[in-house]
Amino acid sequence: MIRSTAAQMAAKLASGETTSVTLTQAHLDRINSVEDKVHAFLFVDEKGALEQAASVDAKRAKGEKLSPLAGVPLALKDVLAQKNKPTTCGSKILEGWLPPYDSTVVANLKKNDIVILGKTNMDEFAMGSSTENSAYGPTHNPWDLSRIPGGSGGGSSAALASFEAPLAIGTDTGGSIRQPAAVTGTVGVKPTYGGVSRYGLVAFSSSLDQAGPCARTVLDTALLHEAIAGYDPKDATSINAPVPQVVQAAKDGNVKGMKIGVVKELNGDGYQPGVRARFEEALELLAKAGAEIVEVSTPNFEYALAAYYLIAPSEASSNLARFDAMRYGLRVGDVDGASAEAVMNLTREVGFGKEVKRRIILGTYALSSGYYDAYYGSAQKVRTLITQDFTQAFTKADVLVSPTCPTTAFKIGEKANDPLAMYLNDIATIPVNLAGIGGMSLPAGLADEDGLPVGFQIMSPVMKDERMYSVGAALEAALLSQWGAPLLDRAPALEAGK
Ligand code: GLN
Repeated sequence: MIRSTAAQMAAKLASGETTSVTLTQAHLDRINSVEDKVHAFLFVDEKGALEQAASVDAKRAKGEKLSPLAGVPLALKDVLAQKNKPTTCGSKILEGWLPPYDSTVVANLKKNDIVILGKTNMDEFAMGSSTENSAYGPTHNPWDLSRIPGGSGGGSSAALASFEAPLAIGTDTGGSIRQPAAVTGTVGVKPTYGGVSRYGLVAFSSSLDQAGPCARTVLDTALLHEAIAGYDPKDATSINAPVPQVVQAAKDGNVKGMKIGVVKELNGDGYQPGVRARFEEALELLAKAGAEIVEVSTPNFEYALAAYYLIAPSEASSNLARFDAMRYGLRVGDVDGASAEAVMNLTREVGFGKEVKRRIILGTYALSSGYYDAYYGSAQKVRTLITQDFTQAFTKADVLVSPTCPTTAFKIGEKANDPLAMYLNDIATIPVNLAGIGGMSLPAGLADEDGLPVGFQIMSPVMKDERMYSVGAALEAALLSQWGAPLLDRAPALEAGK
């Protein structure tokens, strides 16, 4: 049962073939048997999940009309506030903090009766591409336990790929939903900025952060997308417009007559041969399904990485100032006579990890008087140019595509001491965040040289998220008929008897 899709699970719940308690227990059992190898979760809420499941079952028994995913379990990235449940953002500085409120995403999950299994591991404050920056130890990629599951949302992607959960929530500031999806053979979507509320999402870079759905199929992702999306007056950047009809698009999977633009700048020599090969094959399948493939050029993308690593740290340096040893979690050195400043310094010294400190220092420098125009100011100008590149490209194509990342999953430890090499992983995902548009990654197959999953990225214009679901579903169907079984069936078993 745990290897089914969320849509299949929902159908079995609706027909009475199973109950949410049974389904939730099956996932908790799975978590118990594989977590020592995977370490996808920071907190498993066994009691809370079973209580929630029982209440959905009771509602169903009474004949209440329930939402499409009611009773299906989900893994929640630990950057979203959930009332009275540990929310650490992968950081020691938030150890022990219990949010007094639900984020809007969590409120929407509860409203839809989606069962929250627990909180997943992540790079500290979502800064990273491997989940190695978590203060609570790395998560392992179920395809190869010596490799990274992507980041920052590696806990969520690993939970999906190891069948610990059929649904997950991620957040994507520069690629943290799409890159983990790519390297674990799962599906992840960064909705249009403003499409899903950021209220209660612990801020890393407010102008880039966006929560989104993760799952093992395009349809499951769409179902979750519609459950969490929508206007929220509590988020000033929330878009007050109808939610794109992504479920219908995923069901239709129709690309006939659609123009698909291959981004020339995101498909070059720096990409692993196996990544490029799977990407080219996917394009052929889409052409066969009736799409027209065109090439587009986005000349300013070469500056995207540099701009991102000024804008994101700048916003982070400001956002993370709130962790001052007074308001949340950890407090170190609070002895008689200690000044507030000393307590703050000591707490931040002990509570923040190396990468978070690096970003705060970078961002503070970029914003400092005398350097502001040269660094932060220039980066904002580049951001505008990149948005214009997208606007131009979308006059030639309905969606844009590229490989999601240049390589397959690398080894744990391989890039841990080389921040620049780590940052380069985001080269294909970052432009989407800078422009605030939608982006999806879905599996395109395995690279010949290492047998590891390759991600295919689809980008769609602002609030036209349904387009990436049309293309994703068409590609997924074509690949599935070629493979004969889901890609994840080829991942090694984590326990005897699968
Ligand atoms: N890897 C990128 C970074 O380290 C993106 C992270 C994210 O999307 N949260 O900033």
